[in-house]
Amino acid sequence: MNASEANKAKCRRYREANREKYLESHRVWRANNREKLLAQGKTRRAVKYGRLIKLPCEVCGNVQSEAHHPDYSKPLDVRWLCTLHHKNEHRKPHCSGTANRSRKQ
Ligand SMILES: [Zn+2]
Ligand SMILES: [Zn+2]
Repeated sequence: MNASEANKAKCRRYREANREKYLESHRVWRANNREKLLAQGKTRRAVKYGRLIKLPCEVCGNVQSEAHHPDYSKPLDVRWLCTLHHKNEHRKPHCSGTANRSRKQ
């Protein structure tokens, strides 16, 4: 095996190792965000069918608001915030237990 072939083999191993890592992190992300994704889907449907009224951002009144879930287990218990204030809300550490999780999002 010459040097360039050895190098190719190394690259392939590296890619495969990274792929494993990527798949694993994606699995973790999905597990961590499952509740969130479910809650967002339920909120969207509720707004569509008129069970939930979309409101302007509660901080600045921007009508381009999105639903923020203080508690993903209550998908219809939402606060309406614009992109900026929604981000700010997620930056706040609500308690030590969720501080690590929200930083990754
Ligand atoms: Zn706002
Ligand atoms: Zn939110």
